[in-house]
This record gives sequence, C-alpha cells and structure tokens, in this order.
Amino acid sequence: MPIRVAIIGSGPAGFYTASALLKTCPNCEIDIIERLPTPYGLIRGGVAPDHQTTKKIANKYEQTALMERVRFYGNVEVGRDVSLTEMREMYDAVVLAVGARSDRRLSIPGADKLGVYGSAAFVGWYNGHPDFQNLNPYLDTPSVAVIGNGNVAIDCARVLMRSAYGRARTDLPDPVTEAIDRSPINEVHVLGRRGPADAAFTNVELRELGLLTQAAPRVRAEQMPSDIDAALAGYEKREHRVRQRNLTTLADYAERPPGDKPKALHLEFYASPVEILGDGRAEAIRCERTRVIDGRAEGTGTFFEIPCGLVISAIGYRAEPLDGAPFDDARGIIPNTSGRIEAGLYAVGWIKRGPVGVISTNRPDGEQAARHIQDDNPPEGDPSKTGHQCLEALLHERGRRWVCFDEWKRIDEMEKTAAEDGAPRRKFISVDEMLSALDNDNSE
Ligand code: NAP
Repeated sequence: MPIRVAIIGSGPAGFYTASALLKTCPNCEIDIIERLPTPYGLIRGGVAPDHQTTKKIANKYEQTALMERVRFYGNVEVGRDVSLTEMREMYDAVVLAVGARSDRRLSIPGADKLGVYGSAAFVGWYNGHPDFQNLNPYLDTPSVAVIGNGNVAIDCARVLMRSAYGRARTDLPDPVTEAIDRSPINEVHVLGRRGPADAAFTNVELRELGLLTQAAPRVRAEQMPSDIDAALAGYEKREHRVRQRNLTTLADYAERPPGDKPKALHLEFYASPVEILGDGRAEAIRCERTRVIDGRAEGTGTFFEIPCGLVISAIGYRAEPLDGAPFDDARGIIPNTSGRIEAGLYAVGWIKRGPVGVISTNRPDGEQAARHIQDDNPPEGDPSKTGHQCLEALLHERGRRWVCFDEWKRIDEMEKTAAEDGAPRRKFISVDEMLSALDNDNSE
C-alpha cells in the first residue's frame, strides 16, 4: 500500500515538498490540490509580470508534476469542496502549503477610503489573478503612495512606472495594460517608516529601479546615514551585507542629477503614515516624520502630507485560518514544530513561518515535511486511506469539476498561443473563461 500524501496548495512550498517526498519516500503517492485551475501559486500570481526569468522556476515544478506518482487537482478548494477533516480521512498525510493570501491590516484613519488597496489585491490584479479582476483600481491620478519598504512595494511602484515598451513584453493582462496606459501617474512615493539602512528590499530589485527608462529613482541625500556602521549596527552579518549594498545603491540615486526622465519614483524614508485624507476617496496621505531608536521608528511630532489619489499598502501579508487546523492569530501562522502540526498534518512555506523569504526559502520547508512524513508513517500506508480514489468519488458526488495537469497544460498552451508582440503569454483572467476554453477544446 502506498503512503498517500495530499499537498494543499501548488505554490513553491507545495512543489518543493512534492519533490522532496519523491526523493525520500519511495512508497508515497502525492496529490496536489489547488484552489485555482492553474498551478504555481505566487509564481504565477505574485512574482511581477516583468520578472519572467524568475517565473521560469515553474518549469522545474512542472517536471515534478509530470512524475508518475504525482497528480494535480486544480479548481478544488479545501474548505469549500472538501473539508480538511475529510482530506485527513482519505490521506495518510496532509501538508498545508496554502501561503498567506491576505494583507496585514493598515490600521490608520482613512484606510477604508476609495483608492486605498492592499498589495495582495493590487498585485493579484496586475498579475491576472481571477479573485481580483474586478478591482478597477483608481489610476486616474498623477501621484501614488506605496506604503512599505519591502520587495512588494518596489514591485508595485515599478509596474506602474515601467514604459509602455517594457510592459508590452510582460504578461500583464490587457485590461491592466490599458488602465496603466490611460493613467496620468507620473510620480510614485514609496514610504518607509524607518531609514534607508532598515529597508527590506533586496539589492537586485533596488538597482532595477535605476534602469527604468521613463522614471528616475529619487532619494534625498539628507536622509542617507552619515555613519553607516552605526546605522547597520543591529544587523547580523548576512543582513548587514545586503543592507550595505542597498545603502551604496541609494547613495548613488541620491547623487544622480535629476535628468530628463518624465516620471519620478521617490524613496521617502522616516515617513510613518498616520492618516489617509480625502472626502470619501483618497486625496493625500499624512505622515509623521520619524527617527530610528534601537531599531524602532519613533514619531518626532512633525507631520507632512503627500497628495495622492491612489494608496497601495504593501506592509506584508497575512495567512487566513483554515477550518480543521489550529491557528495562531497573533503570529498569523499555524502553530507547528519544525513544520509538524501533529502526526498526519504538516505545514510548509508562509503558513508555517510567516510571509518572509524568497522562493528558495521554501525548499528546506519541503525537505523537513518530507522527513516528518517518512518518520511518522510505517513503510506501508493505511489500507483504509484510498487517497485520490476517494477524493474523485467525493468531487463527482458534489458535482465539482476539477482540472488535471494535462488540462492545465492545455490552458498554458492556449495562453502562450494567444500572446502577441513578444509577450510570454496572455492569461485567462477568470476561472469560467479557463473552464469554457477547456470544454470548447474538448468538443472540437
Ligand atoms: P516585507 O519584506 O516584510 O516588507 C514589509 C514592509 O512593510 C517593511 O518595510 C515594514 O517596515 C513595512 N511595514 C510593516 N508594517 C507597517 C506599518 N504599519 N506602517 C508602515 N510600514 C509598515 O514584506 P513584502 O514586501 O510583502 O514581501 C514579502 C516577502 O516576499 C519578502 O521576504 C520579500 O523579500 C519577498 N518578495 C521577494 C521578491 C523578489 O525577490 N523579487 C518580490 C516580492 C516579494 P519595518 O521593516 O519597519 O517593519
């Protein structure tokens, strides 16, 4: 009897788990369950559309998905179509790789005004994620504020500031490209509540801002630290290195003459948002000037306003609880010991350790979960757990149409065929569109 493993979520954490299990657990069969008809989680729906090289990691995941012992069930949501309790009855082990799909809440007055969006929604919108295609963000403004100093803040700013030529070679959905083309946005203010040394950007992403053809990054020289060692004193070696590089890049931006690029991307530090102003809709953001004491931002009592008709809050993500699993609300994760929630139930990726780290950070999570599954199970699986046989019967009974990996490959092919002008693909942006395209394809 094989050991039946279900991995819930098909992003990097899910795929690294599948790949590790294939290596360490020769007697396991793996079913990957995904809420959308399309696999790869944040690779498809989070990594920026102009970072196509990063998205190529999906080719590796595809090799895993094509292995004989792996099956894909897209368009199946655990919690809607099948419960976690039912999944655990059907499988020897269930791995939660569901990520962190909500925004950390921006708790300031005015955060609920029109024109204020969380980055989960905004990034989902420009990446063609079906959940966010009705967002229609207000882009009819010359000035935008992006709150946060992480890579997501940079992604949002860069996508808005990229030239039409640069955008054409991405897989931004047509309605998104058209909305950005029409928009008069000519300045973006990226707001960090702490200083340049404390920004969470990685250096490649920060340097990329200097290569934009239509927008110039602007940094105020007076905000750069005069004593770099003191500014970096609290950071351990690896962090220290990245931040030192960032300071070099930011110092370069601060010294650059204004030049003649028509748009400006302001990196504004020591700026803690305190209120979004406007009559129903965002018109400006009010910030308090800060100083950094012992690594923390402290208000100085001086306030200033930046006019902006669009505010994107990119202050980090948050996981949602899943019925049938415990949840640590304060930390926004499922409590676990090195990825083990309890025998038979495991967590990997952002739901395990919070929304930090890059794609490869998920690899050790997958390896760890695979080791736990190996240790927690006898060499043979439980004969009463029939895995996909039971799952398919249950989905049939409930009238749920799932999408297998071959069908995803057809969606993939259709998207690539529909692309024009050097774009890598033209995404389907609704689940219904994907399912009807598959059904029409079947009937031909
Ligand atoms: P992040 O790196 O954790 O950055 C969050 C930012 O929000 C920090 O600058 C934080 O400032 C700020 N913040 C938090 N609460 C705030 C508040 N109340 N007011 C003002 N600012 C606030 O999160 P992220 O940008 O969402 O990225 C998530 C992870 O994905 C990161 O590990 C990131 O590197 C990764 N990612 C990587 C790439 C890439 O490699 N290209 C692209 C996208 C995302 P403090 O530091 O002061 O708390």
